[in-house]
Amino acid sequence: MNLNSILNNDKIFYVLNLSSCDKLLEKMIWRPKMKREFAVIGLGRFGGSICHELSLEGMDVLAIDINEQKINEYKNIASHAVIADATDETILTDLGIESIDHVIVAIGENIQASILTTVILTDLGVKKITVKAQNDYHEKILKRIGADHVVHPERDMGKRLAHSLISSNILDYLELSDEHSMVEVKAGKNLVGRTLIELDIRAQYGCNVVAIKRGKQMNVSPSAEDKLREDDVLVVIGADLDIHKFEKDLVI
Ligand code: ATP
Repeated sequence: MNLNSILNNDKIFYVLNLSSCDKLLEKMIWRPKMKREFAVIGLGRFGGSICHELSLEGMDVLAIDINEQKINEYKNIASHAVIADATDETILTDLGIESIDHVIVAIGENIQASILTTVILTDLGVKKITVKAQNDYHEKILKRIGADHVVHPERDMGKRLAHSLISSNILDYLELSDEHSMVEVKAGKNLVGRTLIELDIRAQYGCNVVAIKRGKQMNVSPSAEDKLREDDVLVVIGADLDIHKFEKDLVI
């Protein structure tokens, strides 16, 4: 690879046979940045949408995919787009991946490639690694080999959807840990006109109302005496079992 091939290919880097001079050049071209840097490995629907959103937010994003077509798709979206096999440690080292603030591994179907890439990233000492898991077994391995955060978008989306299907008053659901969640609940007929003190949610259900949204206002220290109004949205946090009981009694 030489300077012409870098310049002629716009922001696409071909990282196949890098000479040390080329490596230096490549780092010089995309290093001098003060913003937070992200790398997204795997530009399927999940990785692609992360790459898109981070770029929209003005972050520096290095997009990596083994598939040239994907890189062509993202070359004008990401700050830099590289055709590379992420299971090749030399390539990741040449790209200076170890100095990137946060690397997202979004290789899904090829579990072996996802695991190998994660091992390489942890070995290289990447500060923060988020990996998409395909199933629970995959998730367990990723956690064991040092991924900082494992996401399971299909399962999480399923859970969120299931909660919102239970009642049209459950607006959102977010898993905080294996046993704790946060839900956004529209004040329905069982809640409207009552105060937090009357409902006594903490004592009755063991969960906490941490905020109330009223129109565009977000009240993060809701008064115990305020009567809840129709269309108020309660942000409730607690153990899954407690939240489930709260939903069953007061929301559904
Ligand atoms: P999604 O559901 O997000 O669309 P997926 O879970 O089906 O994706 P795949 O399509 O298997 O995941 O992989 C996502 C991307 O990862 C693909 O664009 C693929 O080319 C890329 N990819 C797969 N293996 C590697 C690898 N070794 N190095 C870099 N990219 C890879």
